[in-house]
Amino acid sequence: MANQYAVIGLGRFGLSIAYKLFESGQEVLGVDVNEERVEESQPYATHSIIADSTDADALKSIGIRNFDTVIVAIGNDIQASILSVLLLKELGVKKVIAKALNKLHGQVLKKVGADWVVFPERDMGIRVAHQLLSPNVLNFIELSKNYSVEEVKIPDRMLYKTLRELDLRARYNLSVIAIRHEDEINISPSPDKKMDDGDVLVVIGENRDLERFANLK
Ligand code: ADP
Repeated sequence: MANQYAVIGLGRFGLSIAYKLFESGQEVLGVDVNEERVEESQPYATHSIIADSTDADALKSIGIRNFDTVIVAIGNDIQASILSVLLLKELGVKKVIAKALNKLHGQVLKKVGADWVVFPERDMGIRVAHQLLSPNVLNFIELSKNYSVEEVKIPDRMLYKTLRELDLRARYNLSVIAIRHEDEINISPSPDKKMDDGDVLVVIGENRDLERFANLK
């Protein structure tokens, strides 16, 4: 069954969340105070309506508490973002996700009850820098402060060698969890699998070990 989501604030961030959910078959209600934004969002949501999320009555009349998840994607108006989260939690919305512009904003959003605070600019900045520092890393997920999963382009020196020969576990303290070649993913590569040009290793390990591996030529 489809989940019901409401996205408040249909700027670039809110709209991309709405669209991705909608495209995946979820029910998405778009909400914005700005009529033009609401009109522009029509193709990217199940319904879109004009409403001010700092107005408790407006939120009630939408039936906001029936939504499984509400995303507050209000941009620069920090006051409106905080007040919206506060009202949504007071009205009993189970899961509220909110975008923060900076650390202090994020702390306040948590205090008023946001279940998940995201920092899109900060996180994207970190990702871009990470990729500049290690061009072989195509993608990564931080599991904790010290551990990550990374997609790493196979270094030239490892081409045509087998996984057994590479012995990444002993040499780099890394585990290979999959090998990707373009869109094909092999989730249980055999130790005899030879590395081809274009292979991407999905490896898990400690950040310093990943960094050492990803910077091999
Ligand atoms: P982005 O950086 O994601 O493009 P914007 O600041 O352009 O962010 O977009 C935020 C959206 O949030 C705007 O469309 C704005 O009209 C909307 N918005 C701001 N305050 C409220 C509110 N109180 N209720 C509903 N929508 C709001």
